[in-house]
Amino acid sequence: HGGAGWFASMTEEEIQGIKEALNIAADSGYEVMLDGGTSLDAVERAIIILEDNPLFNAGRGSVYTSELRQEMDASIMSGEDRSIGAVASVSNIKNPIKLARKVADQTEHVLLVGEGARSFARSVNQEIVPDEYFFSEEILKRVRKIKQSAAVEKISMNKIGTVGAVAIDINGNLAAATSTGGMTNKMPGRVGDSPIPGSGSWAQNNVCAVSSTGHGEYFIKYQVAREVCNRIQFLNADIETASKEIIDELDEIGGAGGVIAIDFNGKIAMPFNTPGMIRGDKTNKTDLEIKIY
Ligand code: ASP
Repeated sequence: HGGAGWFASMTEEEIQGIKEALNIAADSGYEVMLDGGTSLDAVERAIIILEDNPLFNAGRGSVYTSELRQEMDASIMSGEDRSIGAVASVSNIKNPIKLARKVADQTEHVLLVGEGARSFARSVNQEIVPDEYFFSEEILKRVRKIKQSAAVEKISMNKIGTVGAVAIDINGNLAAATSTGGMTNKMPGRVGDSPIPGSGSWAQNNVCAVSSTGHGEYFIKYQVAREVCNRIQFLNADIETASKEIIDELDEIGGAGGVIAIDFNGKIAMPFNTPGMIRGDKTNKTDLEIKIY
């Protein structure tokens, strides 16, 4: 997915660009698995492509905090052994998802934040890029506008584009990954749902894999990604019902967003309660459909 939210201010050109990028991301993830890679490799690959594209609110196109910096969150999880890697509130990291994967593969930890994450990034040769790499006049204008407005809600999902991916491979291994710049005008140090296991990403073999997008505070409070899997595991719900019900419940309490979910049979559900959610799925070599509404 390429985020849930409101799309009114997007140009036709931007929408086309987003659709193309999502196509490339899904194709590349799929290719990884055709070449013998795992679902974990596939979701990482797909996310890297979207993080490198400034149209999305992740990696290069991340939104600004109230202090006009980018602080990014990401997580990746394998359903095979519950290995999870996550980073939160990291700046100047070109690909937070790669760093999250390194946390899973090369440390005893699950989640690294801030300065410690950055020194770990250096130690594992992750690309660290200057502030200019993330600069966008357009995104800067949006945060300035919110700061000046009289709106009560001072954080905003006014740039869609958190990115996420879920996959199942030939061995039945499920994987999930999510990456974001968070919400526009968030406080420095604010961490959303995306790097939180069970909220932003969750993968559990024989059950399902989920990646969330939306107002992170709600997704944390309701542990949305894990909740979808719980309803499948413990209530015998199917993936459509499990994921749609929790998204509807969030809607009732003002929690905007959506999820992409895939179960152990490869069945897919992508419910959202916002006007749109950029999403696409690929189940064979030729078939890829990108939808927003
Ligand atoms: N979930 C993200 C966050 O709260 C934002 C989003 O998905 O648009 O940081």
